[in-house]
Amino acid sequence: MSDTADRPIDFSRIPHPAPVPGASRDQAIADPGFGKVFTDHMVSIDWTEGRGWHSATLGPRQPLSLDPATAVLHYAQEIFEGMKAYKLDDGTMALFRPEQNARRFNASADRLAMPHLPEEAFVEAVRQLVLADKDWFPTVEGGSLYLRPFMFASEAFLGVRPAKQYKFLVIASPAGNYFKSGVPAVSIWVSGDYTRAAPGGTGAAKCGGNYAASLVPQANATARGHDQVVFLDAVERKWVEELGGMNLFFAFDDGSLITPPLTGTILPGITRESLLQLAREEGLQVREERYSIDQWRADAESGRLLETFACGTAAVVTPVGRVAGHDGEFTIGSGGAGQVTTRLRERLVAIQRGIAEDKHGWVMRL
Ligand code: PMP
Repeated sequence: MSDTADRPIDFSRIPHPAPVPGASRDQAIADPGFGKVFTDHMVSIDWTEGRGWHSATLGPRQPLSLDPATAVLHYAQEIFEGMKAYKLDDGTMALFRPEQNARRFNASADRLAMPHLPEEAFVEAVRQLVLADKDWFPTVEGGSLYLRPFMFASEAFLGVRPAKQYKFLVIASPAGNYFKSGVPAVSIWVSGDYTRAAPGGTGAAKCGGNYAASLVPQANATARGHDQVVFLDAVERKWVEELGGMNLFFAFDDGSLITPPLTGTILPGITRESLLQLAREEGLQVREERYSIDQWRADAESGRLLETFACGTAAVVTPVGRVAGHDGEFTIGSGGAGQVTTRLRERLVAIQRGIAEDKHGWVMRL
């Protein structure tokens, strides 16, 4: 669905009347963890059929009041994004490829029958919130401001059809260093009982329902002592797809690097796309290619596969050390972070933090 009003959006700015004061805030940002502490403000923009986007506000973060018949509560017409604002080495605040999040947001909107938000409005909303809540940047090394733009069907109506009213909101949450000490390898559980996405389904969209459906498989992985769950394809139950919230890469002894292709059942990660470019520049033979669970085990056991890593906004690049499933388990390489994983992680983090030259134009200074 296209937006009915393509004019630029003006934000009303309403400062929070009672922002969290200095001492409590300082305590909150010293060790924020993830997703528990929120900043003072939020952005809100409404969409109404026939009128388009309107009532854009940067105002106090506050509870929403919803009619019990609000469509999202019944049919889950909701999409979201996850991105971070960083403080560069020189103290400037910056976003990493925010236009990619804006684009993916609209791709998700298409799949969930929701209106497009113009990309400039998405980026401007995020920018305004970061500037308003700049004092909420964590003070810990490696901290960032996690940003959560989302849109939901706000019309009170129980018919099953696309809603005629939506709300777009952005909230922010200071986030600590994802891994407090170094980059430990994760152990993952191959979900044999559950799949994440079927062809023609919503796997490539960032909609809440995908994550609701991943909770049981993730809980099974945790109960078995693993950090994350890895999903196989829903048709043949043999192709490795992705983790619940991260894409996967496989590095081989001949200098090749492969990642599963975007066939519509995998979320097109922005970290994934950035690493594909960096890996090509590093001279690796990069291929987007299907990789089966049996091959994964065989290659790990023969030593042909040197490394596997997962990637995403939250943890950037994380080595996968051990893989287990109903058929047993195997270890990858030495079980820790290998050379390719470490090198790609360092390159990407250096760009995101303004340490390395940003020759791709990925960093948007605020
Ligand atoms: N796959 C899934 C299912 C995810 O939720 C995420 C996190 N957005 C990713 C992959 C990684 O995407 P990105 O690199 O854009 O954070």
